[in-house]
Amino acid sequence: MEVFKYSLDKSSKKNNCPNCKKQTFVFYVDTETGNYLPADYGRCDREQNCKYHKAPPKGKRGYLIPFLTLKNVSDKASKLVDVNGVISMIPTSQILEQNQKNCFVSEWYLKTSTINYQNNESKYFSKNEEPFLNQVVKTKPTELIVSSYHSLKLQDKLINDYKSNLTFDNLTAFLLDNFSFDEVDKAISDYYLTGTNLCWKNATMFWQMDNKEHIRGAKIMLYNEYTGKRVKEPYNHINWLHKAIKEPDFNLCQCLFGLHLINKDYQKNIAIVESEKTAIIMSIFLPDFIWLATGSKSNFKFELLEPLKKRSCFAFPDKGEFANWSNKAKELKSKGFKIEVSNILEQTSFKNGFDLADYYFNIN
Ligand SMILES: [Zn+2]
Repeated sequence: MEVFKYSLDKSSKKNNCPNCKKQTFVFYVDTETGNYLPADYGRCDREQNCKYHKAPPKGKRGYLIPFLTLKNVSDKASKLVDVNGVISMIPTSQILEQNQKNCFVSEWYLKTSTINYQNNESKYFSKNEEPFLNQVVKTKPTELIVSSYHSLKLQDKLINDYKSNLTFDNLTAFLLDNFSFDEVDKAISDYYLTGTNLCWKNATMFWQMDNKEHIRGAKIMLYNEYTGKRVKEPYNHINWLHKAIKEPDFNLCQCLFGLHLINKDYQKNIAIVESEKTAIIMSIFLPDFIWLATGSKSNFKFELLEPLKKRSCFAFPDKGEFANWSNKAKELKSKGFKIEVSNILEQTSFKNGFDLADYYFNIN
């Protein structure tokens, strides 16, 4: 986290707003001297009605990009060969500073490029003649949120408690209608698939175990035993174990469903889908991959995919999500990921939301 030279006063002192004249105005303060900036710099707290906000400008942020060569190719464009030999054309106006081996390139431009920059040194540039220019005075490390874990003992207990009912959860019953007992049994033991009556009778619990075998959480969902579809009426039947057993301080830091499997076989490629159920079904249809699930569309992101960085990955977004996931994959590739996104479902005439397991049931 960056601390700027000038920031809004954190005390409760309110002043008269230069715009609406109400006493709702917060000044900017010099964080080093404690002095206020002139009375027109500040923000009015009447966000709906007034919106006055005059901040000392920050200038353009630029990131340090080390290069092998950087040459003007026209009066508007420069050719940069980075330290990995990757060639980029950069608008010369976006090179904010340069020396023999490094240059600072504007964040605005880098965001749309494939140049890797996010952990690089950065600073702010300005040609502005503003009397008060903001700048970073120090950088504080961002606070890391520490994940809570469920104990293996709790997992064992819940698995054994449910087994003593001598019945199957609805999803397992559906799987047994479609696959052999041995196939389903292997999938259950690989993924620790567990039935539970904690929230609803014969619901299914999906354990999120990470690659260090820590249990990050468990999602509980109810399925229809005949169709294998989620029960979403009269409400979406979804909950988390830590909520069901009332652990209010549990800090949920999700990981990919199935992540514990990645260390079991380094020869296998990784396949990523959205739904946990689909990962399980695909592990039966195509056992040559290690199947993982994001659990939601938005969980296809760096934080969850990071443990897969060195592995070859293939992602299969649900129908309609191809564009989103491939944009994300492009960003991840620029950070060194080996990840391809399949458009197999986009080419079908199925409706949006259709997933790879639906497709395999259809062609089998
Ligand atoms: Zn105001």
